[in-house]
Amino acid sequence: MVRVPVAEGVFTWPSDEPRLIGSRCGGCAIVTFPTQNSCPRCACTEMAEHLLPRRGRLWAWTTQEFPPPSPPYAGPTGDAFIPYAVGYVELAGEVRVETRLTQAEGLRTGMEMELVLVPFRTNDDGNEVVTFAFRPLGGAGSGG
Ligand SMILES: [Zn+2]
Repeated sequence: MVRVPVAEGVFTWPSDEPRLIGSRCGGCAIVTFPTQNSCPRCACTEMAEHLLPRRGRLWAWTTQEFPPPSPPYAGPTGDAFIPYAVGYVELAGEVRVETRLTQAEGLRTGMEMELVLVPFRTNDDGNEVVTFAFRPLGGAGSGG
């Protein structure tokens, strides 16, 4: 099975350590995700690609109990739909990213989160479509 990204230009691909692709304004330095062609703050059009940090802190979350409107949602619906957690993760104080979360339990505001790629659905070609999500960084573990 081949893994393919859910969309081009959302995260670096292929990559062992994927990064979300945002944009940074040449005028006021605001960072956006996803990328935008003009700045939402100052309307400057000098937006440069800007790779976002892989880690951030959980800002808010909820549980998606039913399939979102489609499009843009292109995942399982009906009986195949499984509720999942969604939230905002703040990356290095630069930008808050709306994202799927890998779990709904054990979350708390401000906890450190890390970007991962997760299976999303299987497309018509039989390939595994992956999308991005954030997962809580596990405990530091015991010992060293
Ligand atoms: Zn700007």
